[in-house]
Amino acid sequence: MTAIKEATKKSMLDNVMQQFNKTADTIMLNPNIRNILSITNNEIILHFPVKMDTGEVKIFTGYRVQHNNALGPYKGGLRYHPTVDVEDAKALAMWMTWKTSLAGLPYGGAKGGIQIDPREYSIGELERITRRFTYALGENIGPEHDIPAPDVNTNEQTMAWMADTFMSTKSSSERSKNQHVVTGKPVGSGGLEGRNRSTGYGVYLTIKLLYRSRGEQLAGKKFIVQGFGNVGYWTSHFLTNDGAILLAVQDAHATIINENGIAVEDLFEHSKPRKGSIQGFDGAVEMEPAAFFGLQCDILIPAALGNQITAENAYQVKAEVVAEGANGPIDTEGEAILLQNGITIIPDIMCNSGGVIGSYFEWLQNRNGELWQLDEVMFKINKKLTEVFKKVETVVKENQTDWRTAAYILAIKRIETAYIQRGIFP
Ligand code: GLU
Repeated sequence: MTAIKEATKKSMLDNVMQQFNKTADTIMLNPNIRNILSITNNEIILHFPVKMDTGEVKIFTGYRVQHNNALGPYKGGLRYHPTVDVEDAKALAMWMTWKTSLAGLPYGGAKGGIQIDPREYSIGELERITRRFTYALGENIGPEHDIPAPDVNTNEQTMAWMADTFMSTKSSSERSKNQHVVTGKPVGSGGLEGRNRSTGYGVYLTIKLLYRSRGEQLAGKKFIVQGFGNVGYWTSHFLTNDGAILLAVQDAHATIINENGIAVEDLFEHSKPRKGSIQGFDGAVEMEPAAFFGLQCDILIPAALGNQITAENAYQVKAEVVAEGANGPIDTEGEAILLQNGITIIPDIMCNSGGVIGSYFEWLQNRNGELWQLDEVMFKINKKLTEVFKKVETVVKENQTDWRTAAYILAIKRIETAYIQRGIFP
């Protein structure tokens, strides 16, 4: 058994629907708009052949689910993971719609990916899989229609291959107008300085703002992180820079602890040649995976997959704050237990929205033919996230409610307003 549970797809969709329905009841959402938002607009399933290094041709299955585009083009990541399927993508696409709406971006929500374990393929195979998937997606994606980005097990290299493939299918005069078909590209290929760190930066910033609103600082706070990919690493980097202490980390291969604090940069260097795995790090000791969520700490950051905190283990959580770096890491039952125990949950659609906010700036940069500096980008992300935090905080206080409900109220009301203003075609 691996340390990180595989998410149960059906309940990911159940979770997002329960969250949505609760908000729809609270704000007495227009019933027609409730119907529209309850389903995904398009579900694209593609089967495509790719030649392996051995010469054998394998068929792969890729997905893109487009939930809603009332506020602008569909936006959201692509993940490469064995659990990816249409139900999973539906739930994740809905979360993207709420996330972009809450952040005030001109986007809707989508998600997708390929059902593979990328560790089983060579770099050349991954390139051909990615390029063929992009080709198969064809006009289902586009810079003003649906804009993918990295997610679990995909990165700037994946996005560089996608952008290049998509642009190669256009005539030479159209090519440069299509660079913003994906975001999260490498800086040398139209990517944005700071995009790579933007999700982790946002997780860190929302935690910091929460403590600040309580008159507290991050220095000395103990935190634990599940998942040490892009989000887990950058969140830990920024938190420890502010004096917080990384007590334990869990990934799919190991769970490690050091009471005196884990050296984040050393762990990152250790994980790099091991395809991201933290296993075998000599700056910490291995511990029982099942005891991870019950560790005595101030902040718990699930930054891996969905459905990790459930009725089975939520009662063990000792942290006072759970910050959702991942999408949907807490299921409905787990959430009820955490809230009952007085734990504050910073919801995914707010906590990890630094990533898509960074994507938006990359998209604008490409669209305007500009190149922005790192400090400029981080300033803009900080400003946007701080605004979102303040808005949600106001609703938490006014409605005497939890942070997820408050964030959903704002996100869904914005979409409702757009539909009411424009009506339904024809
Ligand atoms: N995959 C990230 C998310 O779940 C980023 C999506 C994007 O930038 O479009 O928010």
